[in-house]
Parts: sequence; structure tokens; C-alpha cells
Amino acid sequence: MNQHLSSATEFLVRRMEVYSSEGVRRHVVHRPVFLDQVGQRQRFSRDSVESVSALTQMVRLPINIEIRAGALNELSSILASQGLSTSGNIGVVVSPGSGKAISQRLAPMLPNARWHIVTDCTLDSAVQLAEQMRFGHYDVVVGIGGGKIVDTAKYAAAQIGLPLVAVPTNLAHDGICSPVSILDSDAGRSSYSVPIPIIVIIDLDVIRQSPSRFIAAGIGDTVSNISAVADWDLSHQETEEPINRLSITIAHTAAQSLLHHPGTIQGNSLLTILAESLVVSGIAMNIAGSSRPCSGGCHEISHALDVLFPGRNALHGEQVGIGAAFATYLRGDSEMAGRIAECLSRHSLPITAAEIGFSDEEFAQAVLFAPQTRPGRYTILEHLDLGLDTIRDAYADYVKAASSMNKNRVELVKI
Ligand SMILES: [Zn+2]
Repeated sequence: MNQHLSSATEFLVRRMEVYSSEGVRRHVVHRPVFLDQVGQRQRFSRDSVESVSALTQMVRLPINIEIRAGALNELSSILASQGLSTSGNIGVVVSPGSGKAISQRLAPMLPNARWHIVTDCTLDSAVQLAEQMRFGHYDVVVGIGGGKIVDTAKYAAAQIGLPLVAVPTNLAHDGICSPVSILDSDAGRSSYSVPIPIIVIIDLDVIRQSPSRFIAAGIGDTVSNISAVADWDLSHQETEEPINRLSITIAHTAAQSLLHHPGTIQGNSLLTILAESLVVSGIAMNIAGSSRPCSGGCHEISHALDVLFPGRNALHGEQVGIGAAFATYLRGDSEMAGRIAECLSRHSLPITAAEIGFSDEEFAQAVLFAPQTRPGRYTILEHLDLGLDTIRDAYADYVKAASSMNKNRVELVKI
């Protein structure tokens, strides 16, 4: 196996599979992907080399990503050029709010499309949507909207064995291109494994219409990858958890590309890099087969805030950004913690719990509770296993350090 891996010309055969409830329906795309094209050779852990041959592994990827102003106007030609739908017989999922304006604008360009309006993005409505679309004989499902709409469309498309084209209308988090659909039900909020979108279309003109806070939050979610991959590396060293360096490289590069970018979310340059970073973060999760490269102690802290203080949560990207800066500080890397905090601050993102309405004590309680939100995940929080008093002291020190570099903050506006 190692002999195979040493060749610069070996490739992985990648293919897309879409699963239906009646069995497996496959949309297969074979393409050679040379490992040296991704910039760094994968270093397989001893465990992964021994357990799974690299030549048998498959990674699902989108076949195309369109990130530019006006891209949505070309939906029909993008689908046709990729051979997904030449007839235009597609099911489009939108919200009743902003989706209405989008459907009015696009309907003349998509005469054979049928529009499905989803009011509440729950598991029940996703199942209902799948039933509605099952007899539409569509070529493809297109989800246009925020994360909840795209997640509902992802789930419904998977149920009926159709590929999903994701068209996010904001950049608030890295679920755009992930193999996961997060839906609410009577049992609470759950994650469901679904195929990764076959195409992602991000129209920068549409993104610009979303609140700036929903764009900045995506920076927080992406930058948190730095802490998440450090946690994965730590777990690999401490618990021998298998690691995937390709996944780590992609997730880390996405975060680094934003960390020092001098642009603002009003500019095309940063907006494009943010969109690309969110998409490839989803691909990193897909390669890993879990959220590991993009979710560590930073996300555990955010989940704990959600669980302990329901209804008071800020945006996901805002919470995990604070979580990433604090987890990095706990890791002893105060230089990187400072860089993360500086990046968040530059984009008017919060760096302390007080800025999103939580007291220091509530945040300390959340950090203490955080490991319980992801049993089995080993991060800096599980590694240090801190008591409440130590967390209080560490957080007080963090706030002091963060505040000293953050005198001229723009006050966060709650929505
Ligand atoms: Zn996240």
C-alpha cells in the first residue's frame, strides 16, 4: 500500500451516489484526481492504512461550483451544460419570504419548473416535501434559500433519489456543501446523513441582499476550523483517533485564507473567498466522513450555549467564533487565539460571551457542560477536563487579553 501511495500519479476514483428510500440510485461521475494536485500528499495514519485500502475509498464531490454575481440567472443553462436537466423539468424549493421574490424573478426563465414553498423546515415538512415531489418526475431538485431551506431540500431530494443543487442565499455557516441535513422534530434537533449537493451555485448579487451579520457569521464558522483541526490532531496524538490529512489541509486552508484577508464583506474579493471557503469546508467534512475537520471544542461550547440557554442563542458562526478563540487560548496558543480574535473583531463579530448576551458565569457553565454535547469527541476540553473554578479563571484571563486588543469594537447589533 505504501508503495502505491508513493506514486505521484495514483488516483482515487470518485463518484457521486444518491440514495433513495427504495434502494440505491446512483448518479455516477468518474474522474481521476491526482493526489499531488491538492498540494500535499495525504499521510495516512497507521490505522487507516491497515484498515482500508486507499484505492477502495470513494469521496463524493460536487461536479461543479459556480460563485459569481448573476450566477442564479443562468440556473437553466448550468443544469443543461452539466447534463442534469435539458428539459428544465425541475423541482425548486424556496421559502415563503425571500423565496417568493426569487421565484417571481426566475419563473419566466424556468417555464417547466415547479415551485415548492416550505414554511417550516422540520423533519415532517421534509418528508412531506419528498412525497409532493416524488411524482413530479423531476430531473433534479434545487434548494434556494437559507440553511434551513437547503437542508430541507437536501433531505427530500435524498428521500426520492434525486440530485440536489444547493443555492444558498446567505453565507452564515459551512453547511452549504456538507453531507448533513439538520432538521427539527418532536425529539429535538437531529443531523441526518445525506448526499453532498451535486452543484453549488452562489450568486454574489443574492448574497449581498442578506443582512451583513449573516455573512460575517460565516467567517466565524470558517475560522473555527483552525481550532477544530488542532483538536483532531490532539485526539490523534492522545487517543490514536484516525486522522485524514487531506481533510485537515482543506479545512485549515479555508480558515487561513480568511484569517488575514484584508478585505471586508462588502468587497467581491473577500465575499468570493468566504463562499469558496464554506464550500470546501463542506468537502473537507465529506472526505473525513464526519464534521471533525470543522467542529471541535469550539462547536461543543456553542452547542452547550444552545442547550443550556434555549432561545437566547446568537448565530452559530458568532458562537463558534468565540468558542474557537477561547479553545485556542486554553490550548496555550495565545498567539493564534489573538489572531482569531483579531479576525473576528475586524468583521464586527463578537469575541466575548457578553457581546452576545451571556454572562461570564453562564459562559463558564457552558464550557463545563460542552463535552456532554458530543460524547466520544476528544477535544482540548476533554483533554484538560477543567473544573468550574479553573474555567472561570481561564475565561477571565481570556477576556482581559481579548479586551486589551479590542478597544474600538463596533457594537454588535442583535437581530
Ligand atoms: Zn459550524
